[in-house]
Amino acid sequence: MPRALITGGAGFIGSHLAEALLERGWRVEVIDDLSTGSIRNIEHLKGRPGFSYVLDTVMNRPLMAELVDRADVIFHLAAAVGVRLIVEAPVHTIETNIKATEVVLELAARKKKPVLLSSTSEVYGKLNKEKFSEEDDLVLGPTSRSRWCYAASKIIDEFLAKAYWKERKLPTVVVRVFNTIGPRQTGQYGMVVPRFVRQALRGEPITVYGDGTQRRSFTWVGDVVEAMIRLIQEPRAYGEVFNVGHTEEISIYELACLVKEMTGSDSEIVFVPYDRAYEEGFEDMPRRLPDLSKIQALIGYRPTMTLREMLARIIAYEREQLRLEAV
Ligand code: UDP
Repeated sequence: MPRALITGGAGFIGSHLAEALLERGWRVEVIDDLSTGSIRNIEHLKGRPGFSYVLDTVMNRPLMAELVDRADVIFHLAAAVGVRLIVEAPVHTIETNIKATEVVLELAARKKKPVLLSSTSEVYGKLNKEKFSEEDDLVLGPTSRSRWCYAASKIIDEFLAKAYWKERKLPTVVVRVFNTIGPRQTGQYGMVVPRFVRQALRGEPITVYGDGTQRRSFTWVGDVVEAMIRLIQEPRAYGEVFNVGHTEEISIYELACLVKEMTGSDSEIVFVPYDRAYEEGFEDMPRRLPDLSKIQALIGYRPTMTLREMLARIIAYEREQLRLEAV
């Protein structure tokens, strides 16, 4: 069976990807420095046949050279993520996102091992369009706003992936992941859904940033990892960029109301100005919806769940976590 290397495999999406690959009988090796990932995310995979993990940074080149050699394909998910982390630690964000990708691509290119690079819908920045498609312009704010260093670093990653494909014939696929949700996602670094669900279950105020009219679409993590597994095995995807996401849109205020209703919570919904939530002059995106026609046409991708279905599962998971914390 094929062997996958997942960088950032102890993160939210990485751990679901590891699980999905193991279920298909793949062998999986994870490397993670636990900077935002957690060993708890892969606890249940330890001891499964074909699973192994290393706690180290992707910047450890000799180690990475060995891991890349052992793998058939590489899912490069290690990155600084979460708006809060990015605003608070821009040096870490830029270094992690750019240097780690350089190491992965350079090592993979020696042996022509296919690399899937996870990018983000953040790269579209402030683009004002109903749906974002892969060939659209990327519209970032000024460098005085830390938020944009995340998008800028991921854009460099995308250029690198494309350049390695063009110049060195390294098979690379870029996936622009839109807001993704599911069990094990932490609310520590931003991430609105786990934050609202936990606030509601604990009876704490539900914190809507800004006026709550900003809109997002949320995708089930299982759909995202499924798409990644299909894309890395699809030669027609090499050298290409794909959106992966969902088209059911909701405003953040409506999301707060929905979470409150579905949890049966008495929590109050409060509005927090962006300046207080993040930093002065913070710029948020009013909307962010993917055009999914490209990924649909190539691999028949379709989101499998409604927002309510996803929230029901996440609420059940978070309730269980709270119960476990209490005992
Ligand atoms: N948000 C919020 N309350 C929170 C966390 C986030 O209102 O406690 C808002 C955030 O300002 C953004 C949206 O929810 O408009 C989605 O935020 P997230 O960090 O999940 O992802 P983003 O779309 O910003 O990458």
